[in-house]
Amino acid sequence: MELTGSIKEVRRQVKEWRKQGLSVGLVPTMGYLHEGHKSLIDRAVAENDKVVVSDFVNPIQFGANEDLSTYPRDIEADKSLCEAAGADLIFHPEPEEMYAPDFSTFVETQQVSAGLCGKSRPTHFRGVCTVVSKLFNIVMPDRAYFGQKDAQQLAVVRRMVRDLNMDIEIVGCPIIREEDGLAKSSRNTYLNPSERQAALVLSRAIFAGEEMIKQGEREAEKILAHMKSIIDAEPMAKIDYVEMVDADTIQPVQKAEGRVLAAIAVYIGTTRLIDNFIAEVR
Ligand code: AMP
Repeated sequence: MELTGSIKEVRRQVKEWRKQGLSVGLVPTMGYLHEGHKSLIDRAVAENDKVVVSDFVNPIQFGANEDLSTYPRDIEADKSLCEAAGADLIFHPEPEEMYAPDFSTFVETQQVSAGLCGKSRPTHFRGVCTVVSKLFNIVMPDRAYFGQKDAQQLAVVRRMVRDLNMDIEIVGCPIIREEDGLAKSSRNTYLNPSERQAALVLSRAIFAGEEMIKQGEREAEKILAHMKSIIDAEPMAKIDYVEMVDADTIQPVQKAEGRVLAAIAVYIGTTRLIDNFIAEVR
């Protein structure tokens, strides 16, 4: 497995694979890799001849008061995980390699990025779409792998690919959780032991909402009220949002019908965590 920070080198390598007629999968990440990322890499390895993992903390998807400078990084551990999973190339550029000092071109979706995380992070999805477009242009993969952990991001990327006619298959992968339910996230490392315990309210609320739908409840308001009450019972938790939306358009729904996404963002201390479930109600 090779690691490079050079766009030119990625292009050279991918071109060589293409000459041999090999298919290429891309797994975009911000590094500090865990089992959630590994599940994406595993799927990519199973479905493609060659797999590129991008490992880049993308500055333009962080707001001014967010955690860009403290975001955890460990490229050596990431290398071992990628190698063990069977990836072929890690693309680990410096910000200067990705963004010229006078960089001034952005890719932006509209309605689908306006709600949920887009409300409290107004420039976030513009940063995501821009970097993902750049990665697609650099690697030109057949398929790209994204986690449902970031369900709105997945919907936004699918919309961008459809709207801009990008010839890339977007593959969504299920949420990987810790044994006690907490969705795996690089940001979990910010939690001290009591916050780590308090963070369980997220998955508890998610499982409870999911169960209500299984039991036949369809009123979004009732389901969301129950989920909120679970989170509000934890003094260390502060709700950013608890919402039910159409899973593709990310527009609010009154009823759990069709393919709906129940998504939450909750501050545990100063750490903002997200979780969700998708229900297919026929
Ligand atoms: P990140 O490094 O947090 O930007 O995540 C990179 C990719 O891994 C995104 O597509 C995420 O949705 C996905 N991912 C992160 N955590 C998980 C998880 N717990 N389960 C599944 N996918 C995940």
